[in-house]
Amino acid sequence: VEKPAPLPETPPVPQSSVKISSRDRVIYPEAGLTKGQLADYYAAVAPAALRWLANRPISLVRCPQGRARHCFFQKHDAGSFGAHVHHVDVREKDGSIEPYLYVDSLDGMMACVQMGTIEFHGWGSLVADIEKPDRLVFDLDPDEGLDFAMVKKAAEDLKGHLADIGLTSWPLLSGGKGVHVVVPLVPQAEWPAVRSFAERFARALSTAEPERFTANLKKATRKGKIFIDYLRNQRGATAVLPYVARARENAPVAAPITWSELRDLESAKRFTIRDAATLLERAAGRALQGWGEGGQTLPDL
Ligand code: ATP
Ligand code: MN
Ligand code: MN
Repeated sequence: VEKPAPLPETPPVPQSSVKISSRDRVIYPEAGLTKGQLADYYAAVAPAALRWLANRPISLVRCPQGRARHCFFQKHDAGSFGAHVHHVDVREKDGSIEPYLYVDSLDGMMACVQMGTIEFHGWGSLVADIEKPDRLVFDLDPDEGLDFAMVKKAAEDLKGHLADIGLTSWPLLSGGKGVHVVVPLVPQAEWPAVRSFAERFARALSTAEPERFTANLKKATRKGKIFIDYLRNQRGATAVLPYVARARENAPVAAPITWSELRDLESAKRFTIRDAATLLERAAGRALQGWGEGGQTLPDL
């Protein structure tokens, strides 16, 4: 029988009015981590997480019986989340209107966790101006078995190429296998232009260095390479948000880091939900000041 492992340092947990049931349910069986511990993690990092999570359409990865059982991606409000989880009407390609979920508070986050949510994924735009992205994300996906050193090098190179065209970017550890390179934008250009920019940028890199990079969706073309997933930058697509816990072994989290920290890391799973105190401290510290901030406009490419 797995026993819930105590969190080493429990930071003061902000109060939420949302009651978490079944706190002792083990949802990370390999680590013995419980729903209650996940809720405490999210409550602790909420001030940092909401900076990114609040007020944008989100998709949830829900695993009501834990990460080792059935998990599903949920985009639309089925009406079961209660008053703290809001919805915004979004027009789909086929003309229909669908209610997308968003939250703007700790209570909203907790209501999602109460419903079995582990992961929060966000659109690249805010509810207030859904057609105008406020960030670009290049999701670097290494082929099976590729060394993390290659991912780091790829992220660094992307940073350099972005800087060459006047764009500042920040690295986010995905908590999985890769790194996301995040470019904050002034919400100005609309989705088609932003997607087109991201695609042309990714294709230019893969054309210049076809042995290292591919911008091709087909898995068969990715052998030994890094797929630059530019498709996070189309209307309706999501990317994992900073401070989100992953439904993967040992509860890794998506963590903002600096470029110099990235050089010394050996995996994208450096932080886990046990690191709430560290993550919060880091979020308030000097090194991550301005991470992901400062709207930019896309240059002509
Ligand atoms: P890794 O570093 O291991 O690749 P990741 O979060 O980047 O982790 P990806 O599979 O590359 O995982 O997916 C990138 C993003 O695409 C995810 O963060 C998520 O927001 C979105 N995504 C992934 N799977 C789905 C899905 N089934 N439905 C909708 N969106 C998805
Ligand atoms: Mn990825
Ligand atoms: Mn991807």
